[in-house]
Amino acid sequence: MVRAIVGANWGDEGKGKITDMLAKESDIIIRFQGGSNAGHTIINDHGKFALHLLPSGVFYSHTVNIIGNGVALNIPYLFNEIRSLTEKGVPAPKILVSDRAQILMPYHVLFDTYEEDRLKGRSFGSTKSGIAPFYSDKYAKIGFQVSELFDTPTLKEKVERVCQLKNVTLEHLYHKPPIDPKELLNTLFEYRDMVKPYVYDVSSYLYNAIKEGKNILLEGQLGSLKDPDHGIYPMVTSSSTLAAYGAIGAGIPPYEIKTITAVVKAYSSAVGAGAFVSEIFGAQADDLRRRGGDAGEFGATTGRPRRMGWFDAVASRYGCRIQGATEAALTVLDVLGYLDEIPVCVGYDIDGTVTKDFPTTPQLERAKPVYTTLPGWKCDIRGIRDYKKLPKECQDYVEFIEKQLEVPVTMVSNGPGRSEIIYRT
Ligand code: GDP
Repeated sequence: MVRAIVGANWGDEGKGKITDMLAKESDIIIRFQGGSNAGHTIINDHGKFALHLLPSGVFYSHTVNIIGNGVALNIPYLFNEIRSLTEKGVPAPKILVSDRAQILMPYHVLFDTYEEDRLKGRSFGSTKSGIAPFYSDKYAKIGFQVSELFDTPTLKEKVERVCQLKNVTLEHLYHKPPIDPKELLNTLFEYRDMVKPYVYDVSSYLYNAIKEGKNILLEGQLGSLKDPDHGIYPMVTSSSTLAAYGAIGAGIPPYEIKTITAVVKAYSSAVGAGAFVSEIFGAQADDLRRRGGDAGEFGATTGRPRRMGWFDAVASRYGCRIQGATEAALTVLDVLGYLDEIPVCVGYDIDGTVTKDFPTTPQLERAKPVYTTLPGWKCDIRGIRDYKKLPKECQDYVEFIEKQLEVPVTMVSNGPGRSEIIYRT
């Protein structure tokens, strides 16, 4: 059985926690897109961890954790992350890296930084992890697959060819020092030696695992609204954040993905630039951000304060639809316990017309939120495990959101820990 866990919003919905929790019953956990540009914060018996590249199943010794072909693989980063776990006493996880994954090169990070600097005020708010230059090169067919590390003559020739191209831009656009092909080749030899023990034909491994009936989790990064096709283009990430892409980024048949769990946050938060209709500001935002302290409302990757907003039913319903969600997990509900009333954005007013459909970016930029207000529950709901024990107003909030999403909310998360979950049947 293959299940995808994906974000229905802008990312930071708490996918890491849900994956870590469901990994207990899983055999294999796969990252299928993105790179080290977003963090999953996980709190468990070993401590608190911010994972960027590793799948969130690494804390269980019975799981195999896979870096799929769709990932932007930063090899030294991966190794530092593994080390950061073992240093805290986590047993060394079992990891496989797809031989078709492409390598995030040192110059991708440089190009990302130089370009953000060049754009100044018009920048994308990139985490400068090299992700956009990486995927640009992949589709321009000048990327490096892990498999290519093991063919030295071809690798050498390609390094020289690519450096020639990169150095023109470095010199004439960014006025920065050129890349030395010899140095780069040596770096790639180091990468090859580091990654070698983990390299595997992941697609065929998964083919067999599916035949054997293994439980497989596909772990998405970021959320629907950051998808390059269906999100708030161009303020998006550079690889698809959708469950459908899980099939491609892992190398499995699309029809094998039976359950799509969309993780939906009980309020909104976003990092980076882009339209954010239900955004709140000032003291109201600071209050929510501070309460969400535990919920890591300061970005796990950058430490930047996240932008805050009320729950956006228009964006979240669309986010679930575009994921093909079969169920939703509603997270960080506990954080809202301080509010007398909770505004929920139920429509967008675009030039005087109210819509419930998520528009394309030019229209989205002009959208004003239409709110309805629900009563707050004014108490701490952490520790509750039985849905019926939640205050009436809290159940009403969940059920209102469920109706808006048009997807069953099967799980409600009321704390960052593994066991802080309420199952609804
Ligand atoms: P991801 O990228 O979707 O995995 O999300 P992040 O890990 O970046 O952000 C989610 C944050 O919320 C993390 O700090 C989690 O520990 C925390 N978190 C997840 N679920 C809950 C919850 O139900 N309640 C609270 N208070 N925190 C949560």
